[in-house]
Amino acid sequence: MSHIPQERLPCLFRPGHSQNELKHEGQQPKFKSINEKLDVRRGRVSRRWILAVVFVLAVVFLVLVFHPAFRGIRVMEVTDGDTIVLKDGEEVRYIGIDTPERDDPFFREATQANKEMLKGGRIRLEYDRDRRDRYGRLLAYVWVDTLLLNAELIKKGLASVYLFSPNLKYRDRFIAVQREARQKEKGIWSIPVEAEAYYVASRRSGRFVFHRPECGSAKKIKRENLMRFETRDEALDSGYSPCRNCKP
Ligand SMILES: [Zn+2]
Repeated sequence: MSHIPQERLPCLFRPGHSQNELKHEGQQPKFKSINEKLDVRRGRVSRRWILAVVFVLAVVFLVLVFHPAFRGIRVMEVTDGDTIVLKDGEEVRYIGIDTPERDDPFFREATQANKEMLKGGRIRLEYDRDRRDRYGRLLAYVWVDTLLLNAELIKKGLASVYLFSPNLKYRDRFIAVQREARQKEKGIWSIPVEAEAYYVASRRSGRFVFHRPECGSAKKIKRENLMRFETRDEALDSGYSPCRNCKP
């Protein structure tokens, strides 16, 4: 290198020049140093971006995992219109409704409709006052996204309102939905029923069931607890459900 005149050498190769001095000399090194700075800054910026994205993803992940609205419970099996089994083996009985039993009309339709609505496989459970029934099953309002399946089954005419104290959270909503299904004669409400002159129920049982006057269960109701409905519609609109024995 000794035969090359020093002034022709790029300043970086010239001896005795510090970085500060280089800043004030030829254009070439000045650009080089800015580019280097920019590269460093770009590195810092992109690192900051990655951190921000990771942070946002972490927040989204935590919300999905822990927020009740997103915390889905997996369904393993649909037993019938109002009973399911969860992945952890827990049996869930839909509260506030009753769907047809195995030998009743619309049993298959109710079971099928329940299966259809549970297709996604993930649900959210909402409880009322009693968490379990006497069989140890969970008593729950079953949600799929914004759909309350208990109400949807009533709406389709595949479930009747079945209330018992103190679990009356959706009483009015269920009665209103059932009234509409009855007016449209959907599902079970299309089945003709022989009318009685009046119907009876107990005001003390807490189970909201009404009977034909001649039903054995009706005869057991104490006189002071006996209440009377003039029509079937009146009983149903009051949130009373038909007795399973006398089927009024
Ligand atoms: Zn009865």
